[in-house]
Amino acid sequence: MRKIEMVDLKIQYSKLSREIDDAIRSVIASSAFIRGPEVKIFEEKLQKYLGEVHVVSCGNGTDALQIAMMALDLKPGDEVITTNFTFISTVEVVALLGLKLVLVEPDPRTYNISPDAVRKAVTSRTRAIVPVHLFGQCAHMESIMDIAAEHGLYVIEDAAQATGTDYISAGGTRKKAGTIGTIGTTSFFPSKNLGCYGDGGALYTGDPDLAEKIRSIANHGMKVKYHHDNIGVNSRLATIQAAILNVKLKYLDEFNNSRSAVADYYDEAFAGCKSLITPERSSFSTHIFHQYTVRVTDGRRDELRNYLAGKNIPSMIYYPGPLHFQNAYRYLGYREDDFPVTSKLCREVLSLPMHPDLEQEQLDHIAINVLEYLNKE
Ligand SMILES: *Cc1c(COP(=O)(O)O)cnc(C)c1O
Repeated sequence: MRKIEMVDLKIQYSKLSREIDDAIRSVIASSAFIRGPEVKIFEEKLQKYLGEVHVVSCGNGTDALQIAMMALDLKPGDEVITTNFTFISTVEVVALLGLKLVLVEPDPRTYNISPDAVRKAVTSRTRAIVPVHLFGQCAHMESIMDIAAEHGLYVIEDAAQATGTDYISAGGTRKKAGTIGTIGTTSFFPSKNLGCYGDGGALYTGDPDLAEKIRSIANHGMKVKYHHDNIGVNSRLATIQAAILNVKLKYLDEFNNSRSAVADYYDEAFAGCKSLITPERSSFSTHIFHQYTVRVTDGRRDELRNYLAGKNIPSMIYYPGPLHFQNAYRYLGYREDDFPVTSKLCREVLSLPMHPDLEQEQLDHIAINVLEYLNKE
């Protein structure tokens, strides 16, 4: 049996190597390493894939969040509400820009930001809400957009883990994750559902003026060379990365469907297991399973993880520590027990291997060993 990986980028490359090698070679031959034609081609292709939205590429998903907040002119002291259960980037840029970070609890079933918690956290100083579409499934965007409209707030969707996810409105219309709020951001980090071979990111917005401002900020605040209208940053998608993404975007839906089939297998295998909660499938979102994250409710999560490691089955804890209790964020003044839902999730969650190339033999090995351990007294 092939070695099981959380994400197997080597096997994916082996299947696409001819196309990818050609794409990289042609960029090197042209030597247009920055702002080469492949970047624009990729932005247009992604735009077509996402629907009615402008796409601006940038250096990575963390920069995308920062550029979004800069483009919306958020100022020190402005309050930004986001979830306490996410990757650090989301809160990092808020802190970095001197904005006031307001953390709220996730919904324990979907792991996504709780709209009720957001509503309770709104004050007269709130300027923006940052929902994160965690693990590949959308947060409840209609509720969040309603709260935003009521209070005149911006919504920045962190769609780094949800490239290709559909949000399904109550009326049944579908929109891609990241295209609903004021601005959507994403990451092309290698292990994301649409990943390049280094760092990369993008922003989406339906507002053409805002798109132009975002494009300028990502490139030193310039529209015309050496004329700086905004304070900007240096955050560009390298041409080689865009060329790789042009190949991989063609296969994104296929890859996401394969992930979904893996998730169906896990769901079924674990259906009768009392000490394990499989991921909720929301009625208002598709799920592209950036991660397949279960909750181990009998207190043996860490022991299970060790047991699996002994059987050559990797697993990961996304995310182990509530953000409000990380050393860098103690200045916020939260108490450890301020977020019981987040803390409980941090003790219970376990992400299992998830990628499009998992083989049946590997899946059986994972499921048998998870169940063998949990069914033991
Ligand atoms: C990966 C990720 C980011 C950051 O993306 P980078 O490209 O690594 O900077 C931001 N938010 C979430 C939720 C992520 O998973």
